Amino acid sequence: MSSRTSAIKFYANPATRRVPAAERERRLADPGFGRIFTEHMVRIGWAAGRGWHDAELSPYAPLTLDPGTSVLHYAQAVFEGLKAFRQASGGVAAFRPQAHAARFRSSARRLALPELPEEAFLEAIDLLLETDHEWVPAAPEHSLYLRPFMFAGEVSLSVHPSEEVTFLLIASPSGSYFPRGVKPVTVWLSEDFSRAAPGGTGAAKTGGNYAGGLLAQAQAAEKGCDQVVWLDSREHRWVEEMGGMNLCFVFGEGRQARLMTPALTGTLLPGITRDSLLTLGRDLGYAVEEGRISVDEWRSGCEDGSLTEVFACGTAAVITPVGAVKSARGSWTVRDGGPGEVSMRLRQALVDIQRGAAPDEHGWLHHARVPSGR
Ligand SMILES: *Cc1c(COP(=O)(O)O)cnc(C)c1O
Repeated sequence: MSSRTSAIKFYANPATRRVPAAERERRLADPGFGRIFTEHMVRIGWAAGRGWHDAELSPYAPLTLDPGTSVLHYAQAVFEGLKAFRQASGGVAAFRPQAHAARFRSSARRLALPELPEEAFLEAIDLLLETDHEWVPAAPEHSLYLRPFMFAGEVSLSVHPSEEVTFLLIASPSGSYFPRGVKPVTVWLSEDFSRAAPGGTGAAKTGGNYAGGLLAQAQAAEKGCDQVVWLDSREHRWVEEMGGMNLCFVFGEGRQARLMTPALTGTLLPGITRDSLLTLGRDLGYAVEEGRISVDEWRSGCEDGSLTEVFACGTAAVITPVGAVKSARGSWTVRDGGPGEVSMRLRQALVDIQRGAAPDEHGWLHHARVPSGR
């Protein structure tokens, strides 16, 4: 069975026995994040000289890897994270999969991996959603998290771009990021560690960036903080990101509010939530800019009241308000430490579009081929 105009032919080999509806509903009742997976996955192979081949949907199953598989040693791998939402009118839609496909290609380029054509990325998502659409939760703030990834599959301990690569797409029903309402986080400014340096892999979505951040995250936890904030690696002065999310600063309030997010210097991950919120911010009439802010400006802005809100943004939580900041040189709060009005307004605007509760004026939703009326 093949589909779409993609040059790669996809075969569908679904499981012959499906999880009974009652069992599925039981697992979907409290999915958490990244703990449960749907019944299928999509795999595409790539080999030097042969290109992309053997695209197939099959039952979700463990992988068997030779201990000499390159990715286990040298981490040549990239991933994406996006969500599919049950729509207010029934049906299922993925949020901005084309943008994620484009970023997946640019991450792959940086890691010397082959670039998966965007139509193949989309077809993999369409095929998985079509087969496993019943695993898209209906509860408010719940979604199906899609995880496309690709890794060096060649068996070799010599260091070189792998001549064999595997692309996989799996899906994980996920619950609300804030089951008890949106709660601001306290952040630790990391001055000992860096996430990314000029010329490095900071703009690519690759696991190594996360592995390198775990110790700083553990240090943040030791200091009683929820998340680590990354500063530039040269001066440890300019604010870059928070954990695996982008940051946005709000100056002023009401109609006069101005949004500022750190510019994409090459060491930041170009978030699709960040991009969406810049657009929605403009739609809502706020002044919006990409710029830079130092730690000192963050602190003095909070002290003189000009900086009114700070939030982090990413696919998982949409918007997470930052309520308080701690660092080796002192601590301060952002306003009263509660979620800000502009942050919550932007969050609602984005969530409404994702759910089909507000018009999709920018064409961000990609509707899946699922039986309608569900
Ligand atoms: C994925 C990611 C983000 C957020 O990107 P979204 O596309 O909005 O989910 C931000 N920073 C880092 C380091 C990331 O890996």
